[in-house]
Amino acid sequence: MTSAVRQVAIVGGGTAGWLSACMLAARRPDLQITLVESPDIPTIGVGEGTWPTMRDTLATIGIAESEFLACCDASFKQGSRFDGWVTGGQSDSYLHPFTPPPAGNMRDLLAAWQAQESPSDFAAAMTPQAAACADDLAPRQRAMPDYAGALNYGYHLDAGKFAALLTRHGTTRLGVTLRSATVLGVDGAANGDVAALRLDDGSTLTADLFIDCTGHAALLIGGHCGSEWTDLSHISFNDRALALQVPVQPGSAIAAQTVGTAHQAGWLWDIALPARRGIGCVYASRFMSDADAEEILFGYVAKHLPHADLSALTPRKLSFKTGHRARFWQGNCLAIGLSAGFIEPLEASAIVLIELSLRALTENFPASRAAMDLHGERFNALFRYRWERITEFLKLHYVLSRREEPYWLAQRDPATVPLRLAQNLALWRDQPPSAWDFPQVDEIFSAASQHYVLYGMGYPVPPASGAASDAARAQLAEVRERARVLRAGLPSNRAYLDAARAQAA
Ligand code: FAD
Repeated sequence: MTSAVRQVAIVGGGTAGWLSACMLAARRPDLQITLVESPDIPTIGVGEGTWPTMRDTLATIGIAESEFLACCDASFKQGSRFDGWVTGGQSDSYLHPFTPPPAGNMRDLLAAWQAQESPSDFAAAMTPQAAACADDLAPRQRAMPDYAGALNYGYHLDAGKFAALLTRHGTTRLGVTLRSATVLGVDGAANGDVAALRLDDGSTLTADLFIDCTGHAALLIGGHCGSEWTDLSHISFNDRALALQVPVQPGSAIAAQTVGTAHQAGWLWDIALPARRGIGCVYASRFMSDADAEEILFGYVAKHLPHADLSALTPRKLSFKTGHRARFWQGNCLAIGLSAGFIEPLEASAIVLIELSLRALTENFPASRAAMDLHGERFNALFRYRWERITEFLKLHYVLSRREEPYWLAQRDPATVPLRLAQNLALWRDQPPSAWDFPQVDEIFSAASQHYVLYGMGYPVPPASGAASDAARAQLAEVRERARVLRAGLPSNRAYLDAARAQAA
C-alpha cells in the first residue's frame, strides 16, 4: 500500500471531469490519466460564468486565449451586477466587480468616498472597472499578450462547447485516455478504497486514485464511500432553476458582467455571449410554483429582448439540492465538481471551486497511498472552510435586502443566518471587512468582495477616525482618471469579439 500513485481514473465528462483531466495531465505528465464518460448520461450543460482564475487555468493547460474565445463562443466577464436586490425599485442596482478597490486603508477610502462632492456609487468610486462595465467595454486590447488585461476579468462561455474543447485538448495534446462507457458498479478493497470500476462494456478499470466527477450522481464519493451530505437548505433556500438560451441580433451590445435581477422569490441570471444570451430563473419551490417562475422568466425576456420569438423558446428545468459532502476526499477517492456539492450560482462559485480543488490536488499530489490520508484530511478541512465562507457570502446578499415579500423576510430570519456571518455584520458596524476576517491565501470572496456587496447594498459605513486623508482622496481621483483613459482606449466587447472570431474563422 505504499506504492507510488501513477494511475488516475476520472469518472465524468462534464466541466469538472475535463478540467481535472487537463489540469492533471498538464501539471503531472508522469501520470497515466483515464477519463470515463458515459455516452448515455448527459452533463448538466449549464455553468456559464467563471472567475478570473480561469485565465490561469487555461494558460496552465496550454490553450491560447483566442482559441478558447472562438471555440467556446465566449465573452469577457468583469463581475456581477445586482438589480433589485435592496428594495426592488427602479434605480436599485450595484456592481460587484472583479478588480478590487485601491490598496490601502478601507476606512480612509470610505471617508474619501463619502466626502466626494458629487457622490457616485461605491464600485464606481473604487474601480475604473465600473465605467468599463457601464459602457460594455472589453477588459483588454487585442494586442495584449494572452490572458493579460487592463482590468481583472473572467469569462462567460458556452458550457457544452467548453467541455468539447477540453475533450479535444486533453485527448489530442495532453495524452488523456478517454473511455466512453457507463460505470455500472464499484469493486471495493478491504480497506474501503475503490479497487476497480465495472464498466458497461464488460471491462474493469483499476487505478491508484479515483476522481469522482459524476455530477449530482456522486457515484463514488456518495455511492461507494458513503460520505455524508451536509445540507445547507435551511440557509440557502433556492432549489430550482429554469434555463433558456435566447439568440441575439448580430451587432448587439455584449454586457461586461453577469446581471442578477431579484424577483419575489429568487432571482434571474442574464449572461451575454456573442451569439446568444443565457437567461435563467432561480427560485425556491417552497415560495414559488414552476408556472410562476416561468412567467417571470418570459416576462424578463420580453422586456429585455423584445425581438425574441418567445414561442420558439422552451426552458430547461433543473432541480438541485444545496449542500456538500462532509468529506470530499475519502480513502483513494476525491470528489470534484457537483459530486462534491452545490449551492445556487449567485456568484458563480462552482467552477472556481473545481479550479481550487485541482490546485490543491496538483500542488499536494500524494506520492503514495499512505500519504493520501494526510492529504485528504487537509483537503477536507480546507474545503469545509471554503464552503462555509461561500455560504456566508451568498447569504449576505439576502440579509442586507430590505425587500418585503415573504421569501425575502424569511431569508432575513436570524434563525437562517450563519453565526459567523451575524458576528461579522456586528463587527462591520465598527470596522470595514479586512484580511483579519478572511485570512486564507486563496479566499474565494476576499474582504474586497465583501466591501462591494456591503456598501453597494447600503450597509452603514463605520464611523471615520478623522477627515478623509489626502492620500485616499488622491487614490479616488486616480480611479476617475483611469476610468477616463480606459473609456477612451478599450474596444467594446462586441468589436473585440467579432474581430477575434473573424480572425479565427
Ligand atoms: P456534470 O456536468 O453533471 O457531469 C457529470 C458527468 O458524469 C457526465 O459526463 C456524465 O455522463 C458522467 N456520469 C454520471 N454518472 C456516470 C456513470 N455512472 N458512468 C460514467 N459517467 C457518468 N457554475 C459556475 O461556476 N458558474 C455558473 O455560472 C454556474 N451556473 C449554474 C447554473 C445552474 C442553474 C446550475 C444548476 C449550475 C451552475 N453552475 C455554475 C455549476 C456548474 O454547472 C457545474 O459546477 C459544472 O458544470 C460542473 O459540473 P460537473 O462536471 O460536476 O457535472
